[in-house]
Amino acid sequence: MPAATAISSISALLAALCAVIGGAVLLSGRRRPSHRTFLYFTTSLFLWHLFSVFVNLRVPLALAALLFVPVSLLMFLRTWLRDSISNVALPTRGAPRTIWALLVVGELMLAYSYSVSGDPRQAWAEQIPPLLKVLVVPSLYLALTPLWQVYRQTVSRVDKRRLLYLIGVGLLAITVTVWEHLPTPIGRGGAALGTVLSIVYLYFLHQTLFLDRLLDINELLGRVVVLSAFVLLLSAVHMLLTSILHVEANQVVTVVAFVMLTVYEPLRRFLEGQVQRLTTRERFDQMQRLAELRSALPNVIDPREAVRAVLSGLEETGRLTSASVYLLESDGNGYELVGHCGSRAVERLDAAARRPLLYRLVSTRQPVTLEQLEREHDLLTGRWGTVADLETLDAIARTLVELQAGAVMGIYPSRSVESSRRASTVSGALLHVSEDTAFVPSEQLIGLLCIKDDRSRDAFASAELDLLAALAAQLGITVQNSQLYERMKERDRLAALGQMAAGLAHEIRNPLGAIKGAAEFIAPMADGRLPEDAGDFVRIVIEETRRLNRVVSQFLDYARPWRGDESPLDVNDVLQKTVAVLRQIIDEQVSEQPDTVATQVVLELLPDLPQVRGDAEQLKQVFLNLALNAVQAMAGKQDGPAILQIATGLRPVGRLGTVLHHVEIRFADKGSGIEPQAMKNLFIPFFTTKERGTGLGLPISQRIVENHGGFIEARNRPGGGATFVVVLPCLS
Ligand code: ADP
Repeated sequence: MPAATAISSISALLAALCAVIGGAVLLSGRRRPSHRTFLYFTTSLFLWHLFSVFVNLRVPLALAALLFVPVSLLMFLRTWLRDSISNVALPTRGAPRTIWALLVVGELMLAYSYSVSGDPRQAWAEQIPPLLKVLVVPSLYLALTPLWQVYRQTVSRVDKRRLLYLIGVGLLAITVTVWEHLPTPIGRGGAALGTVLSIVYLYFLHQTLFLDRLLDINELLGRVVVLSAFVLLLSAVHMLLTSILHVEANQVVTVVAFVMLTVYEPLRRFLEGQVQRLTTRERFDQMQRLAELRSALPNVIDPREAVRAVLSGLEETGRLTSASVYLLESDGNGYELVGHCGSRAVERLDAAARRPLLYRLVSTRQPVTLEQLEREHDLLTGRWGTVADLETLDAIARTLVELQAGAVMGIYPSRSVESSRRASTVSGALLHVSEDTAFVPSEQLIGLLCIKDDRSRDAFASAELDLLAALAAQLGITVQNSQLYERMKERDRLAALGQMAAGLAHEIRNPLGAIKGAAEFIAPMADGRLPEDAGDFVRIVIEETRRLNRVVSQFLDYARPWRGDESPLDVNDVLQKTVAVLRQIIDEQVSEQPDTVATQVVLELLPDLPQVRGDAEQLKQVFLNLALNAVQAMAGKQDGPAILQIATGLRPVGRLGTVLHHVEIRFADKGSGIEPQAMKNLFIPFFTTKERGTGLGLPISQRIVENHGGFIEARNRPGGGATFVVVLPCLS
């Protein structure tokens, strides 16, 4: 095959390939500026290759088309970069005016040179076409500068790598094409196999334009590298055979086919493996970290702590620039922000106003991303979308922007799995918001996990989104479990209240009986006078009424839901105030009944005790209850002095592999100790061994301490007496 024919047939092939790629863009129906400029670029390449096919047209028209190639490439790169990478400053949309002006000048000069060709007086004009050809080479390289500019400005490593591929393959494609078009013997005097690389690059750009996911890019890059290496290898073999060894054309085909068969598969496997290794390593590490975070979540009970763990874990992966978690409000009317990292998002999302997003999350149970919404929008505008569908998509996209999210994952309660699975199978549920569907957010969506990567708009690969969705699901289980836990606690409390009601009836009946008996004695006699000892009975009535009052108010204390007013406080301080009151009570008792033994209170406070978060008044009540119990236990004591030791200290408590310190307050008395029967029933409402006790002091104290995140321990002391220890978590 003569060289000129081979070249023109390759040009025809290239023209056809350009037409195919350009046609694919045209048929896709996309109308973004980058799609339009890409079409210009493919058209100019197409025309250049097409005109190169026809020898007589080659020189004037092919060159005219060639001049458009660098300009359209520059235009495309600028618009595409502007469309796909935010936060980067590029001066204007298309090519700068000077470049347009240069192009027009070039075309005019070309036209002039051909119009005067053959005129010996204008012989200088014949130098214009070769000069323009030479100028095209640097301008092609310069057309890649937007990629370099963005590469330098962008922060995201992911984007940087992506841009570097584009620059590298672009430089290679231009170099090979230019080299082949150089006149023989340096080059080949026209398009040859190496020029196919420029089509590979075109295909690469085309795919980048449509498949924006990074994993796709990696895959694609693997394919492109394999293709390019293969094309280069074939052209090298072809050149070796034809130019150096002067082998005949039909034999060349056989050798080339043989090389193709033997080398393609191992070369493909090797190169794709290398590319995968290079590009996915970091991503793999990040995914691993997300998976670890997910498996650590079941150990966390408190939903706020779980949210904190998820957010800090996400931040640590470095995979996103901001994240926020919203949880359903107790009235179910909206979602409140419970935690965020990175830029701050809105505080609250109204469930009624943001229905389209919430409904979509519930009906599809899939993450919603801005990028996907855009794609659907493009699809709808091009094809069969109705205005309502477009409005729904816009509303969802607006909510995402308001939430400052690139992707939103739903946090679902596990019990609605069945119902939502049914909903997601309804075709078109993706886009339609049907008003008749009974959508109750509180039952189907308990929260939202929003994430964003400011460095690139569409940076989340589907595998990552799946992992994040699984993380959101785990968060849902934790939230739900904790609500379940709260409900269980509430149920236990109500059951205990039921039991207590019986105890309370008993407690009320006793003093009531005493009051009734006393009142009967006080009843006036037949002559209207009161009995002589009426005064004693009146005292009984008053005392029993007081006791009734005490039982009822203590019962109310116990039954009332927790309404502590928590603030950081110093336990030593609270204890000192309690002991002041206690000493007063002891003094009063001694002055009322001089034969009772006065209890000595010894206070041993650990200096610099860490603060705790709590309600000082409620804790005072706990300390006083325990101290008075101790005083009462020592009241009838005959042997030795009655000493109540109150001491503060620190206690290490192990939790999730870390050692935290808790504050402990010990009340050690030298009384009779806790009786074995009492030990079993301590903290049970109305259990008392005292004649005039209510049996509510310890249960109330325990409830208050538990509401502070602590607990009470009770044990007998070896030498006699009892120790009660209150343990409270420190303020970290
Ligand atoms: P009350 O003091 O009205 O009996 P509590 O709930 O405070 O109610 O106490 C329940 C029971 O626990 C007491 O009746 C007593 O038997 C036992 N108890 C509490 N504190 C002590 C103590 N320091 N020493 C011995 N027994 C105690």
